[in-house]
Amino acid sequence: MSIDTEAGLATRCIHAGELTDAHGSPHTPVYTTTTFGFPSTAAILDVVEGRAAGGLYTRYGLNPTIQALEAKLASLEGGEAALAFASGMAAEAAAFMAHGRGGVVCIGDAYGGTLELIGNQLPQLGISTHLLLGDELERLEALLAGGVGLLFLETPTNPALEVFDIAALAARAHAHGALLMVDNTFASPVNQQPLALGADLVVHSATKYLGGHSDLTAGALMGSRELMDAVWPWRKNLGQVPAPETAARVARSLRTLVVRVQAQNASALAIARAMEAHPRVARVRYPGLESFPGHELAARQMTGFGGMLTMEVAGDGAATAAVADRLGLFTIAPSLGGVESLVTQPVTTTHHGLDPGERQRRGITDAMLRLSVGLEDVKDLIADLQQALN
Ligand code: PLP
Repeated sequence: MSIDTEAGLATRCIHAGELTDAHGSPHTPVYTTTTFGFPSTAAILDVVEGRAAGGLYTRYGLNPTIQALEAKLASLEGGEAALAFASGMAAEAAAFMAHGRGGVVCIGDAYGGTLELIGNQLPQLGISTHLLLGDELERLEALLAGGVGLLFLETPTNPALEVFDIAALAARAHAHGALLMVDNTFASPVNQQPLALGADLVVHSATKYLGGHSDLTAGALMGSRELMDAVWPWRKNLGQVPAPETAARVARSLRTLVVRVQAQNASALAIARAMEAHPRVARVRYPGLESFPGHELAARQMTGFGGMLTMEVAGDGAATAAVADRLGLFTIAPSLGGVESLVTQPVTTTHHGLDPGERQRRGITDAMLRLSVGLEDVKDLIADLQQALN
């Protein structure tokens, strides 16, 4: 059995890509080295010209610790290859440089930095970009027919948790020779496998579930060898590689990815049900709830519904902030995906920069609280939310 391609996901999380050493370490050693020596000029040329694998120079990503992480990352998303990055934004930026120069369409809501990069910064380089919301997809056909080369989306989205049909959008992109790139940060490979559904590229803020402990910043990109080979020189010359120490910490965290995410799925569903029944909660958005508009699609393309949920408090923005302020176990912080539970009011953080009209268009209300459910006992988390609401 090939561990990297045939074993179950939890097995791959632990064993895929790992290198052993002469001392029998069960984990890949951390090569903090910046450069690697060779027995001859011919041997170095073999690595430089791609005939032999091996360490060469760490900024190139040719460092065994980084390469071992990449083998694990590729395996987890079912990609032929993966590249590790110093952040999620670095991974996105390199992917857009390599594959987005023919134009980028962002479908649905997305992380604020992604919207800024696509909406404001890529156009400064002469790249045409378009931001379409979920109810504007009728414009997609004309953009694809006009030659746009890359569709980008998050699913579920931040913070409304809108779910998009990956297989259907991949088919529409491919019919016009375009690529589909999915930001799988919210779902993680445990809950959703975009490449198997037809996407061409998967990107992650590994800072979130892959890192899982709110103690590292990293990114990842997965896809075919050919697509990754085109991204590699951008990462190399923009200097976006992660430090070997960080790469080793991402690999360490990935070993527990399945148990962490499955526990977070279960707790988020229990919290969503408890909040749906609470009289001071006007609305709960969670793809696992039968009441959620995208539930059927989520049930079809996801194997778990994730640890993120968004609820609207019955009250105004000040009342909502007061609920967040009364929480004891949920830390008020903008990130997500760690072992500790976090809460954020999107209008004060991730979507603070948007004007009120644009927020309304995106369905982001003052009464929204976004929860990142951690690994605390779920009864304690529910009790904390109830005391804050009461
Ligand atoms: N994608 C999503 C869905 C995110 O939430 C974030 C960060 O919050 C990013 C990408 C960017 O990742 P990073 O902060 O690791 O650069």
